[in-house]
Amino acid sequence: TRADITYFGAGPALLPTEVLETAAKALVDYNGTGLGIAEHSHRSELAATIINEAKADLASYLDIPAADYEVLFMQGGGTGEFSASVYNMVGAWVARQHAAILKDLGPDAAEDQVLAALRAKVESSLKLDYIVTGGWSLKAYQEATRLLGPEYVNLVADARADNGGKFGTIPDQSTWRLSKDAAMVYYCDNETVDGVEFPEFPKVLAPNADGTGPIVVADMSSNILSRRVPVANYSLLFFGAQKNLGCTGVTVAAIRKSFLQPAITQPSPALMRKLGLPIPPIVFQYEIIAKNNSLYNTLSIFDVYIAGQVLKKLLKTYPNKVDGQQAVSEKKANLIYSALESHPDAYKIVPHKSVRSRMNICFRVTKNGTVDESEKAFLKEATALGLTGLKGHRSVGGIRASNYNSIPLEGAEKLAKFIDSFAKA
Ligand code: PMP
Repeated sequence: TRADITYFGAGPALLPTEVLETAAKALVDYNGTGLGIAEHSHRSELAATIINEAKADLASYLDIPAADYEVLFMQGGGTGEFSASVYNMVGAWVARQHAAILKDLGPDAAEDQVLAALRAKVESSLKLDYIVTGGWSLKAYQEATRLLGPEYVNLVADARADNGGKFGTIPDQSTWRLSKDAAMVYYCDNETVDGVEFPEFPKVLAPNADGTGPIVVADMSSNILSRRVPVANYSLLFFGAQKNLGCTGVTVAAIRKSFLQPAITQPSPALMRKLGLPIPPIVFQYEIIAKNNSLYNTLSIFDVYIAGQVLKKLLKTYPNKVDGQQAVSEKKANLIYSALESHPDAYKIVPHKSVRSRMNICFRVTKNGTVDESEKAFLKEATALGLTGLKGHRSVGGIRASNYNSIPLEGAEKLAKFIDSFAKA
Protein backbone atom coordinates (compact mmCIF):
# COMPACT_ATOMS: atom_id res chain seq x y z
CA THR A 1 0.00 0.00 0.00
CA ARG A 2 0.91 3.65 -0.19
CA ALA A 3 1.79 3.62 3.50
CA ASP A 4 4.42 0.89 2.95
CA ILE A 5 6.34 2.80 0.31
CA THR A 6 8.84 5.64 0.32
CA TYR A 7 9.11 6.75 -3.29
CA PHE A 8 12.41 8.38 -4.28
CA GLY A 9 11.50 9.03 -7.94
CA ALA A 10 12.91 12.16 -9.58
CA GLY A 11 9.63 13.58 -10.85
CA PRO A 12 6.75 13.27 -10.89
CA ALA A 13 7.48 13.02 -7.20
CA LEU A 14 5.62 11.86 -4.17
CA LEU A 15 2.82 14.20 -3.04
CA PRO A 16 1.64 14.46 0.57
CA THR A 17 -1.14 11.89 1.07
CA GLU A 18 -3.42 14.36 2.86
CA VAL A 19 -3.16 16.76 -0.10
CA LEU A 20 -4.15 13.95 -2.47
CA GLU A 21 -7.05 12.92 -0.26
CA THR A 22 -8.41 16.48 -0.13
CA ALA A 23 -7.86 16.85 -3.89
CA ALA A 24 -9.61 13.57 -4.61
CA LYS A 25 -12.73 14.88 -2.89
CA ALA A 26 -12.42 18.24 -4.66
CA LEU A 27 -12.21 16.42 -7.97
CA VAL A 28 -15.69 15.01 -7.42
CA ASP A 29 -17.33 17.93 -5.63
CA TYR A 30 -15.51 21.16 -4.87
CA ASN A 31 -16.73 22.78 -1.64
CA GLY A 32 -20.28 21.48 -2.02
CA THR A 33 -20.80 23.14 -5.41
CA GLY A 34 -21.86 19.82 -6.98
CA LEU A 35 -19.10 20.25 -9.57
CA GLY A 36 -15.55 19.00 -9.39
CA ILE A 37 -12.58 21.36 -9.42
CA ALA A 38 -11.55 20.22 -12.91
CA GLU A 39 -15.06 20.94 -14.22
CA HIS A 40 -15.44 24.50 -12.97
CA SER A 41 -14.68 27.27 -15.43
CA HIS A 42 -11.18 28.68 -15.29
CA ARG A 43 -12.92 32.07 -15.53
CA SER A 44 -15.04 31.53 -12.42
CA GLU A 45 -14.53 33.52 -9.25
CA LEU A 46 -13.65 30.28 -7.52
CA ALA A 47 -10.79 29.67 -9.99
CA ALA A 48 -9.52 33.22 -9.54
CA THR A 49 -9.42 32.69 -5.78
CA ILE A 50 -7.42 29.48 -6.17
CA ILE A 51 -4.90 31.21 -8.45
CA ASN A 52 -4.57 34.31 -6.29
CA GLU A 53 -4.17 32.35 -3.07
CA ALA A 54 -1.53 30.07 -4.58
CA LYS A 55 0.37 33.11 -5.83
CA ALA A 56 0.16 34.85 -2.46
CA ASP A 57 1.17 31.71 -0.53
CA LEU A 58 4.13 31.10 -2.85
CA ALA A 59 5.24 34.72 -2.44
CA SER A 60 4.88 34.46 1.33
CA TYR A 61 6.71 31.14 1.65
CA LEU A 62 9.62 32.21 -0.56
CA ASP A 63 9.65 35.93 0.26
CA ILE A 64 9.00 37.05 -3.30
CA PRO A 65 8.44 40.84 -3.19
CA ALA A 66 5.00 41.23 -4.79
CA ALA A 67 5.73 44.83 -5.76
CA ASP A 68 8.65 43.78 -7.98
CA TYR A 69 7.74 40.34 -9.32
CA GLU A 70 4.87 38.82 -11.22
CA VAL A 71 4.15 35.13 -10.59
CA LEU A 72 2.83 33.37 -13.69
CA PHE A 73 1.26 29.92 -14.01
CA MET A 74 2.21 28.59 -17.41
CA GLN A 75 2.04 25.38 -19.42
CA GLY A 76 4.69 23.55 -21.39
CA GLY A 77 6.83 22.41 -18.45
CA GLY A 78 10.42 23.31 -17.72
CA THR A 79 11.14 22.53 -21.36
CA GLY A 80 8.64 25.20 -22.44
CA GLU A 81 10.52 27.69 -20.28
CA PHE A 82 13.81 26.87 -22.02
CA SER A 83 12.17 28.41 -25.10
CA ALA A 84 10.06 31.07 -23.36
CA SER A 85 13.04 32.52 -21.51
CA VAL A 86 14.94 32.94 -24.79
CA TYR A 87 12.11 34.64 -26.67
CA ASN A 88 11.16 37.00 -23.88
CA MET A 89 14.65 38.00 -22.82
CA VAL A 90 15.76 38.57 -26.42
CA GLY A 91 12.60 40.65 -26.94
CA ALA A 92 13.36 42.70 -23.82
CA TRP A 93 16.95 43.23 -24.97
CA VAL A 94 15.81 44.42 -28.41
CA ALA A 95 13.24 46.73 -26.80
CA ARG A 96 15.95 48.31 -24.64
CA GLN A 97 18.38 48.73 -27.56
CA HIS A 98 15.61 50.16 -29.73
CA ALA A 99 14.73 52.75 -27.08
CA ALA A 100 18.40 53.70 -26.64
CA ILE A 101 18.88 54.12 -30.41
CA LEU A 102 15.74 56.26 -30.75
CA LYS A 103 17.00 58.45 -27.95
CA ASP A 104 20.46 58.65 -29.48
CA LEU A 105 19.35 59.48 -33.02
CA GLY A 106 16.65 61.92 -31.96
CA PRO A 107 13.02 62.32 -32.98
CA ASP A 108 13.78 63.13 -36.64
CA ALA A 109 15.71 59.95 -37.43
CA ALA A 110 14.44 58.05 -40.48
CA GLU A 111 12.99 54.59 -39.90
CA ASP A 112 15.66 53.00 -42.11
CA GLN A 113 18.40 54.64 -40.12
CA VAL A 114 16.98 53.33 -36.84
CA LEU A 115 16.61 49.86 -38.29
CA ALA A 116 20.19 49.87 -39.62
CA ALA A 117 21.52 50.91 -36.22
CA LEU A 118 19.46 48.23 -34.49
CA ARG A 119 20.64 45.55 -36.93
CA ALA A 120 24.24 46.54 -36.32
CA LYS A 121 23.67 46.37 -32.56
CA VAL A 122 22.11 42.91 -32.81
CA GLU A 123 24.99 41.63 -34.90
CA SER A 124 27.69 43.10 -32.69
CA SER A 125 26.24 42.60 -29.23
CA LEU A 126 23.30 40.22 -28.84
CA LYS A 127 24.46 37.35 -26.62
CA LEU A 128 22.75 34.83 -24.37
CA ASP A 129 25.09 33.30 -21.81
CA TYR A 130 24.72 29.70 -20.61
CA ILE A 131 26.50 27.95 -17.77
CA VAL A 132 26.23 24.24 -18.49
CA THR A 133 26.52 22.04 -15.41
CA GLY A 134 24.33 19.09 -16.33
CA GLY A 135 21.78 17.56 -18.66
CA TRP A 136 19.08 20.19 -18.12
CA SER A 137 21.17 23.33 -18.60
CA LEU A 138 22.65 21.57 -21.63
CA LYS A 139 19.15 21.13 -23.08
CA ALA A 140 18.35 24.80 -22.40
CA TYR A 141 21.59 25.85 -24.11
CA GLN A 142 20.79 23.64 -27.09
CA GLU A 143 17.29 25.12 -27.35
CA ALA A 144 18.67 28.68 -27.36
CA THR A 145 21.08 27.67 -30.12
CA ARG A 146 18.25 26.04 -32.09
CA LEU A 147 15.98 29.10 -31.82
CA LEU A 148 18.56 31.83 -32.41
CA GLY A 149 21.55 30.25 -34.12
CA PRO A 150 24.92 29.64 -32.47
CA GLU A 151 26.22 33.16 -33.20
CA TYR A 152 24.00 34.59 -30.47
CA VAL A 153 24.64 31.97 -27.79
CA ASN A 154 27.71 31.93 -25.56
CA LEU A 155 28.79 28.86 -23.63
CA VAL A 156 30.11 30.51 -20.47
CA ALA A 157 31.39 27.26 -18.97
CA ASP A 158 30.94 23.55 -19.60
CA ALA A 159 31.37 21.45 -16.49
CA ARG A 160 32.36 18.40 -18.54
CA ALA A 161 35.49 20.10 -19.84
CA ASP A 162 37.68 19.49 -16.79
CA ASN A 163 35.91 16.43 -15.43
CA GLY A 164 36.72 13.71 -17.94
CA GLY A 165 33.78 14.57 -20.20
CA LYS A 166 31.23 13.96 -17.45
CA PHE A 167 29.05 16.24 -15.35
CA GLY A 168 29.67 16.36 -11.60
CA THR A 169 31.39 19.68 -10.91
CA ILE A 170 30.76 23.41 -11.26
CA PRO A 171 33.70 25.13 -12.96
CA ASP A 172 35.38 27.80 -10.84
CA GLN A 173 33.68 31.14 -11.39
CA SER A 174 37.03 32.77 -12.21
CA THR A 175 37.05 30.72 -15.43
CA TRP A 176 33.56 31.73 -16.60
CA ARG A 177 33.60 33.55 -19.93
CA LEU A 178 30.71 35.96 -19.35
CA SER A 179 29.63 38.32 -22.14
CA LYS A 180 29.38 42.04 -21.65
CA ASP A 181 25.71 43.05 -21.16
CA ALA A 182 24.26 39.67 -22.09
CA ALA A 183 20.51 39.53 -22.78
CA MET A 184 20.55 36.93 -20.01
CA VAL A 185 22.88 34.66 -18.06
CA TYR A 186 21.24 31.28 -17.61
CA TYR A 187 21.95 28.45 -15.22
CA CYS A 188 20.19 25.47 -13.65
CA ASP A 189 20.24 25.68 -9.84
CA ASN A 190 19.89 21.93 -9.36
CA GLU A 191 20.70 19.38 -12.04
CA THR A 192 18.19 16.59 -11.47
CA VAL A 193 19.95 13.94 -13.57
CA ASP A 194 23.52 14.61 -12.47
CA GLY A 195 22.95 15.47 -8.81
CA VAL A 196 24.78 18.79 -9.03
CA GLU A 197 23.43 21.78 -7.10
CA PHE A 198 24.81 25.30 -6.85
CA PRO A 199 25.77 25.59 -3.15
CA GLU A 200 24.77 29.27 -3.22
CA PHE A 201 24.03 32.09 -5.64
CA PRO A 202 27.10 32.52 -7.89
CA LYS A 203 29.01 35.54 -6.62
CA VAL A 204 30.13 36.73 -10.05
CA LEU A 205 26.48 37.21 -11.00
CA ALA A 206 25.62 39.36 -7.97
CA PRO A 207 23.94 42.69 -8.70
CA ASN A 208 25.81 45.96 -8.19
CA ALA A 209 24.99 48.20 -5.25
CA ASP A 210 22.65 50.28 -7.44
CA GLY A 211 20.68 47.16 -8.44
CA THR A 212 22.09 47.00 -11.98
CA GLY A 213 24.06 43.98 -13.09
CA PRO A 214 23.66 40.77 -15.05
CA ILE A 215 20.19 39.62 -16.10
CA VAL A 216 20.09 36.28 -14.34
CA VAL A 217 17.67 33.49 -15.29
CA ALA A 218 17.54 30.23 -13.36
CA ASP A 219 15.81 26.89 -13.70
CA MET A 220 14.78 25.83 -10.18
CA SER A 221 12.52 22.96 -11.20
CA SER A 222 14.03 20.42 -8.85
CA ASN A 223 15.04 22.39 -5.76
CA ILE A 224 12.49 25.18 -5.42
CA LEU A 225 10.76 25.44 -2.01
CA SER A 226 13.62 23.54 -0.35
CA ARG A 227 15.88 26.46 0.55
CA ARG A 228 15.91 30.24 0.71
CA VAL A 229 16.33 31.92 -2.67
CA PRO A 230 17.82 35.42 -3.01
CA VAL A 231 14.92 36.33 -5.28
CA ALA A 232 16.07 39.92 -5.88
CA ASN A 233 19.16 38.61 -7.71
CA TYR A 234 17.05 37.10 -10.48
CA SER A 235 15.28 38.65 -13.41
CA LEU A 236 13.45 35.39 -14.02
CA LEU A 237 13.24 32.10 -12.23
CA PHE A 238 11.07 29.22 -13.26
CA PHE A 239 10.17 25.70 -12.20
CA GLY A 240 7.88 22.89 -13.21
CA ALA A 241 5.53 21.86 -10.41
CA GLN A 242 6.09 18.12 -10.43
CA LYS A 243 8.93 17.83 -7.91
CA ASN A 244 8.44 20.06 -4.87
CA LEU A 245 5.30 22.01 -5.71
CA GLY A 246 2.54 19.79 -7.03
CA CYS A 247 1.60 17.56 -9.91
CA THR A 248 2.69 17.69 -13.52
CA GLY A 249 0.91 20.22 -15.71
CA VAL A 250 1.66 23.64 -14.36
CA THR A 251 4.90 25.61 -14.54
CA VAL A 252 5.68 28.71 -12.52
CA ALA A 253 7.63 31.69 -13.81
CA ALA A 254 8.49 34.53 -11.43
CA ILE A 255 9.56 37.50 -13.49
CA ARG A 256 10.75 40.92 -12.47
CA LYS A 257 8.15 43.52 -13.41
CA SER A 258 10.81 45.66 -15.13
CA PHE A 259 10.67 43.07 -17.95
CA LEU A 260 6.93 43.48 -18.41
CA GLN A 261 4.64 46.29 -19.51
CA PRO A 262 4.56 49.14 -18.86
CA ALA A 263 8.34 49.12 -18.21
CA ILE A 264 9.06 47.16 -21.40
CA THR A 265 6.85 46.35 -24.37
CA GLN A 266 7.95 43.35 -26.41
CA PRO A 267 8.98 44.43 -29.94
CA SER A 268 6.44 44.04 -32.71
CA PRO A 269 6.54 40.82 -34.76
CA ALA A 270 7.29 42.95 -37.83
CA LEU A 271 10.39 44.47 -36.23
CA MET A 272 11.68 41.10 -35.01
CA ARG A 273 11.21 39.65 -38.49
CA LYS A 274 13.25 42.49 -39.98
CA LEU A 275 16.00 41.68 -37.49
CA GLY A 276 15.84 37.97 -38.30
CA LEU A 277 14.94 37.16 -34.69
CA PRO A 278 12.17 34.80 -33.53
CA ILE A 279 8.94 35.81 -31.82
CA PRO A 280 7.27 33.62 -29.21
CA PRO A 281 4.11 31.61 -29.63
CA ILE A 282 1.60 33.76 -27.80
CA VAL A 283 1.19 31.33 -24.88
CA PHE A 284 4.90 31.81 -24.15
CA GLN A 285 4.79 35.61 -24.08
CA TYR A 286 5.14 36.59 -20.43
CA GLU A 287 3.50 40.00 -20.84
CA ILE A 288 0.36 38.35 -22.27
CA ILE A 289 0.19 35.80 -19.46
CA ALA A 290 0.81 38.51 -16.84
CA LYS A 291 -1.83 40.83 -18.29
CA ASN A 292 -4.39 38.00 -18.05
CA ASN A 293 -3.52 36.80 -14.53
CA SER A 294 -2.33 33.48 -16.07
CA LEU A 295 -5.70 32.99 -17.82
CA TYR A 296 -4.98 33.94 -21.40
CA ASN A 297 -6.14 30.44 -22.28
CA THR A 298 -7.54 27.49 -20.33
CA LEU A 299 -5.30 26.79 -17.36
CA SER A 300 -5.60 23.56 -15.39
CA ILE A 301 -7.08 24.91 -12.18
CA PHE A 302 -6.83 21.44 -10.66
CA ASP A 303 -3.03 21.59 -10.95
CA VAL A 304 -2.93 25.06 -9.42
CA TYR A 305 -5.22 23.83 -6.65
CA ILE A 306 -2.84 20.96 -5.78
CA ALA A 307 0.12 23.36 -5.76
CA GLY A 308 -1.89 25.68 -3.51
CA GLN A 309 -2.67 22.86 -1.08
CA VAL A 310 1.01 21.87 -0.91
CA LEU A 311 1.92 25.49 -0.15
CA LYS A 312 -0.73 25.75 2.56
CA LYS A 313 0.62 22.58 4.15
CA LEU A 314 4.19 23.92 4.03
CA LEU A 315 3.12 27.22 5.57
CA LYS A 316 1.26 25.38 8.31
CA THR A 317 4.15 23.00 9.03
CA TYR A 318 6.88 25.64 9.06
CA PRO A 319 6.10 28.91 10.86
CA ASN A 320 9.48 30.18 9.64
CA LYS A 321 8.49 29.19 6.11
CA VAL A 322 11.19 28.03 3.68
CA ASP A 323 13.90 28.24 6.35
CA GLY A 324 12.10 25.50 8.28
CA GLN A 325 11.97 23.24 5.23
CA GLN A 326 15.60 24.04 4.41
CA ALA A 327 16.77 22.73 7.79
CA VAL A 328 14.87 19.48 7.27
CA SER A 329 16.11 19.08 3.68
CA GLU A 330 19.70 19.46 4.84
CA LYS A 331 19.22 17.00 7.68
CA LYS A 332 17.76 14.36 5.35
CA ALA A 333 20.50 14.85 2.74
CA ASN A 334 23.22 14.66 5.42
CA LEU A 335 21.80 11.39 6.74
CA ILE A 336 21.93 9.77 3.31
CA TYR A 337 25.33 11.16 2.29
CA SER A 338 26.84 10.19 5.65
CA ALA A 339 25.61 6.62 5.24
CA LEU A 340 27.20 6.48 1.78
CA GLU A 341 30.45 8.03 2.97
CA SER A 342 30.75 5.48 5.77
CA HIS A 343 31.24 2.77 3.14
CA PRO A 344 33.69 4.06 0.53
CA ASP A 345 34.31 0.49 -0.66
CA ALA A 346 30.65 -0.11 -1.42
CA TYR A 347 29.51 3.26 -2.77
CA LYS A 348 30.87 5.99 -4.99
CA ILE A 349 29.06 9.32 -4.82
CA VAL A 350 29.01 10.72 -8.36
CA PRO A 351 29.29 14.54 -8.07
CA HIS A 352 32.12 16.40 -6.39
CA LYS A 353 31.52 16.94 -2.66
CA SER A 354 31.28 20.75 -2.89
CA VAL A 355 28.37 20.67 -5.37
CA ARG A 356 26.38 17.66 -4.18
CA SER A 357 22.65 18.11 -4.54
CA ARG A 358 20.49 17.97 -1.43
CA MET A 359 17.62 16.91 -3.70
CA ASN A 360 19.00 14.27 -6.09
CA ILE A 361 21.57 12.03 -4.46
CA CYS A 362 23.45 10.19 -7.22
CA PHE A 363 25.80 7.31 -6.47
CA ARG A 364 27.10 4.01 -7.76
CA VAL A 365 27.21 0.70 -5.94
CA THR A 366 30.71 -0.73 -6.33
CA LYS A 367 32.86 -3.63 -5.39
CA ASN A 368 36.62 -3.05 -5.26
CA GLY A 369 36.05 0.27 -6.95
CA THR A 370 34.07 -1.02 -9.93
CA VAL A 371 30.36 -1.18 -10.61
CA ASP A 372 29.11 -4.73 -10.79
CA GLU A 373 25.98 -6.81 -10.27
CA SER A 374 25.65 -5.50 -6.72
CA GLU A 375 23.92 -2.37 -8.07
CA LYS A 376 21.04 -4.49 -9.31
CA ALA A 377 20.90 -6.31 -6.00
CA PHE A 378 20.81 -2.95 -4.20
CA LEU A 379 17.75 -1.86 -6.19
CA LYS A 380 16.02 -5.20 -5.73
CA GLU A 381 16.52 -5.35 -1.99
CA ALA A 382 15.56 -1.68 -1.56
CA THR A 383 12.32 -2.26 -3.47
CA ALA A 384 11.51 -5.26 -1.28
CA LEU A 385 11.78 -2.93 1.72
CA GLY A 386 9.44 -0.36 0.15
CA LEU A 387 12.25 2.00 -0.89
CA THR A 388 11.30 2.57 -4.53
CA GLY A 389 12.09 4.82 -7.48
CA LEU A 390 15.84 4.66 -6.84
CA LYS A 391 17.04 3.81 -10.33
CA GLY A 392 19.24 6.53 -11.87
CA HIS A 393 18.28 8.43 -15.04
CA ARG A 394 18.53 6.26 -18.14
CA SER A 395 21.26 8.51 -19.58
CA VAL A 396 23.69 8.02 -16.67
CA GLY A 397 22.62 4.85 -14.86
CA GLY A 398 23.49 4.20 -11.23
CA ILE A 399 21.30 5.06 -8.27
CA ARG A 400 19.48 8.32 -7.67
CA ALA A 401 17.63 9.00 -4.43
CA SER A 402 15.44 12.04 -4.95
CA ASN A 403 15.06 13.64 -1.58
CA TYR A 404 12.25 16.09 -2.28
CA ASN A 405 10.18 17.89 0.35
CA SER A 406 7.55 15.17 0.52
CA ILE A 407 10.09 12.54 1.64
CA PRO A 408 9.61 12.45 5.40
CA LEU A 409 12.59 12.40 7.75
CA GLU A 410 11.72 8.77 8.60
CA GLY A 411 11.92 7.91 4.88
CA ALA A 412 15.45 9.32 4.66
CA GLU A 413 16.37 7.47 7.87
CA LYS A 414 15.05 4.23 6.44
CA LEU A 415 17.11 4.66 3.29
CA ALA A 416 20.25 5.58 5.26
CA LYS A 417 19.81 2.46 7.37
CA PHE A 418 19.43 0.30 4.30
CA ILE A 419 22.52 1.84 2.68
CA ASP A 420 24.44 0.88 5.80
CA SER A 421 23.07 -2.65 6.15
CA PHE A 422 23.48 -3.45 2.44
CA ALA A 423 27.13 -2.44 2.52
CA LYS A 424 27.77 -4.50 5.64
CA ALA A 425 26.11 -7.54 4.14
N1 PMP B 1 14.64 21.37 -15.66
C1 PMP B 1 14.91 20.48 -14.69
C2 PMP B 1 15.92 20.84 -13.64
C3 PMP B 1 14.25 19.25 -14.67
O1 PMP B 1 14.52 18.37 -13.69
C4 PMP B 1 13.31 18.95 -15.67
C5 PMP B 1 12.52 17.67 -15.70
N2 PMP B 1 12.87 16.68 -14.89
C6 PMP B 1 13.08 19.90 -16.67
C7 PMP B 1 13.75 21.10 -16.62
C8 PMP B 1 12.12 19.63 -17.77
O2 PMP B 1 10.85 19.72 -17.28
P1 PMP B 1 9.58 19.20 -18.10
O3 PMP B 1 9.71 17.74 -18.23
O4 PMP B 1 8.45 19.65 -17.23
O5 PMP B 1 9.58 19.90 -19.41
